[in-house]
Amino acid sequence: MNNLIDGKKISLDLQQEIAAEVKRMKEQGRRAPHLAAILVGNDGGSETYVASKIKACENVGFTSTMIRHPEYVTEEKLLQSVYDLNNNPEIDGFIVQLPLPRQINEHKIIESILPSKDVDGFHPINVGRMVLNLPCYVSATPYGIVHLLQKYNVETSGKHCVVIGRSHIVGSPMSILLAKNTQLGNCTVTLCHSKTKDLKSHTLTADILICALGSPEFVTADMVKEGAVVIDVGTTRVVSTETKSGFKLKGDIKFDEVAPKCSLITPVPGGVGPMTIASLLRNTLLAAKKEIYS
Ligand code: NAP
Repeated sequence: MNNLIDGKKISLDLQQEIAAEVKRMKEQGRRAPHLAAILVGNDGGSETYVASKIKACENVGFTSTMIRHPEYVTEEKLLQSVYDLNNNPEIDGFIVQLPLPRQINEHKIIESILPSKDVDGFHPINVGRMVLNLPCYVSATPYGIVHLLQKYNVETSGKHCVVIGRSHIVGSPMSILLAKNTQLGNCTVTLCHSKTKDLKSHTLTADILICALGSPEFVTADMVKEGAVVIDVGTTRVVSTETKSGFKLKGDIKFDEVAPKCSLITPVPGGVGPMTIASLLRNTLLAAKKEIYS
């Protein structure tokens, strides 16, 4: 199949560039960028995501620190962890792995992170700066998707992009980035969600279709225009007897029937997922070099 977007390769390329930059920094006597991650509880998905972020840090020569809290941690204790990282000059950036347990106010935690260390790009200051086209940390998944489109020379100007899903971390920022008056924007964007009527009438007109709803194999061939570029963000763990772990990752696209219609398509796994991690590393490098906030 030659219409496959190889997120794994593009991610490795980006990680190699980052590793080369880290090597240069060290040769100049500077310390390696340092990313910290706060993990609450023992959710399998969150454990896996944080472990792969830590592993990626090792691969590019970053220092990493993981701070664990039990599921029943109080908000006060979690805020204290955030304040400690905010005030630790050895930490360039950090993330608080989401979702958080019910007793914790997620917004309060995110807003307590220093914008200059918010390498996930979730703080309202970073989101606002992104909207206003000011230097900021763009959240990892949308940045990763834009990077993929750029690497595969996907023309965005004047194209119709349909985004399914309006979450704060994927769909909404994605729609904003692609509608911007920038080289990688200038799309006409339709943002769809669970209240959208006749979703298919929108998706069928998409030159670029970005699916971020978290519903396995939701998008079928009859919903996709011939020749469209299709980006599958969805990653749902479904039970499987085919794997050792007992589950596998499913995207939002019914891949086998949609792929033959597309000019380009991302697989799951191996598409958007690897880019998310590489984008986080990129933001951490920018934080260490003080390129966004000096
Ligand atoms: P989310 O916060 O649950 O948001 C889902 C969005 O999809 C909501 O806006 C919802 O609409 C919309 N939606 C749900 N059912 C729909 C339907 N039948 N028709 C149209 N819209 C529908 O999800 P998220 O955090 O953005 O994540 C979405 C998926 O991407 C998940 O599978 C997640 O695991 C994956 N993800 C992957 C990566 C990666 O690195 N690969 C990163 C982040 C997320 P309403 O707003 O109306 O409820």
